[in-house]
Amino acid sequence: MTKIKYCFASMLFLFAAVVSAQEEDKVREGGHTNQSKFKQLYEEFATPNTYRSASGAPGPDYYQQQANYKMNIELDDENHRIYGEETITYINNSPDDLEFLWVQLDQNIRANDSKALLKNGKKISPEESVEDFAKKYVNPAFDGGFNIAHVKDALGKPLPYTISFTMMRVDLPKPLKSKEQMSFSIKWDYNVVNHVVDRARSGYEEFADGNRAYVIAQFFPRMAVYNDVEGWQNHQFWGNGEFALNFGDYEVNITVPADHILDATGTLQNRKEVFSKEMIKRYEKAKKSYDKPVLIVSQEEAEAASKEFSNQKKTWKFFAKNVRDYGFATSRRFIWDMQAVKLSNRDVMAVSLYPPEGNPLWEEYSTKAVALTLKSYSAHSFDYPYPKAISVHAKNQGMEYPMICWNYGRPNPDGTYSDRVKFGMISVIIHEVGHNFFPMIVNSDERQWGWMDEGLDTFMQ
Ligand SMILES: [Zn+2]
Repeated sequence: MTKIKYCFASMLFLFAAVVSAQEEDKVREGGHTNQSKFKQLYEEFATPNTYRSASGAPGPDYYQQQANYKMNIELDDENHRIYGEETITYINNSPDDLEFLWVQLDQNIRANDSKALLKNGKKISPEESVEDFAKKYVNPAFDGGFNIAHVKDALGKPLPYTISFTMMRVDLPKPLKSKEQMSFSIKWDYNVVNHVVDRARSGYEEFADGNRAYVIAQFFPRMAVYNDVEGWQNHQFWGNGEFALNFGDYEVNITVPADHILDATGTLQNRKEVFSKEMIKRYEKAKKSYDKPVLIVSQEEAEAASKEFSNQKKTWKFFAKNVRDYGFATSRRFIWDMQAVKLSNRDVMAVSLYPPEGNPLWEEYSTKAVALTLKSYSAHSFDYPYPKAISVHAKNQGMEYPMICWNYGRPNPDGTYSDRVKFGMISVIIHEVGHNFFPMIVNSDERQWGWMDEGLDTFMQ
């Protein structure tokens, strides 16, 4: 997430909290704590154990749980609603038998009775438009929470579950034993929020011609983390803190209107079914273009597609190996370009999706910024392991998911833009693509330790 000010402010806050806690200790223990800013770090670390060794490396009993997902997703563009059915295979690598499983339901912060809204305060600003006032205080609240149609075991038998705000506990008829695995399925749907109007991390933007561009993430029930430190990590999602998630393999089929362009986490499995012959030709050219992006869908083509609203559907099929999360972006109003990036001895695709509203800035800088980020971060940390990195232009957004991120930076309607907009856009792309390295690939726990991913990424940026 690009909240640099927020990030520094929280670091200062954390620092202040640590200092004041230390001051308290000092009073309590009569001043015998070590207050030196240069003291040995081991005083801050947990005692080594069989899970975590004294060197900081995993110990002999270290484990991570795994959650694999098979999902069928359908977007109803007209009613901006998403339907999904997923089968989760949960692999219990822990030494513990588990009597229940915790699942994250992040979309419930958009439920009309969501407690997340309470934390935002009720201050009435001295100047407020009638529309904004009515939206906040008079009109019924938007309901974007999950409707859970069912939770079933592998044999189709309903599993009992309890929902507490953004968390769901699924009770098991018998404990899931250590080193064993189980599959269960969840069927769900929810109303997609207009992220520009309602300030959300994912949702849709509506353009003047009635078309929408969707940037969709945190959109499916996801397994909570279980580990040796916390047991179940079942903290609520309040919208600010990000995530702790398991690695897993994702097989995802996404059905959208036939005239939509779509890209997502993972490798496209049915390119011939969803690309035109001309797009395939351009894609083959892009795979060999290391110096500049190749258009897969041009601005003229995106504008022509924006005039029709197809009633046909198309299913895009993806597979992603060993990722911690999943996101996708889709619209008939997207321009699409790609270029190849050489890292050591393999090629990665740098990709951009943007509506015509992003030009002329986006065609010029987005994919190049993605390519440079992959090269420089790989050179200074480790080689980027995924097959692609996608930068999607979404108004006011700066948010990352594995292989895909949403970025702001929009020229004025007449195509002019200031240096501030241009450099802001390039910076946010570097920052959000950079989050692939920290936390997506190293998978730190962002809900507990937000400074780890923001700190490392901001340093690298
Ligand atoms: Zn960030």
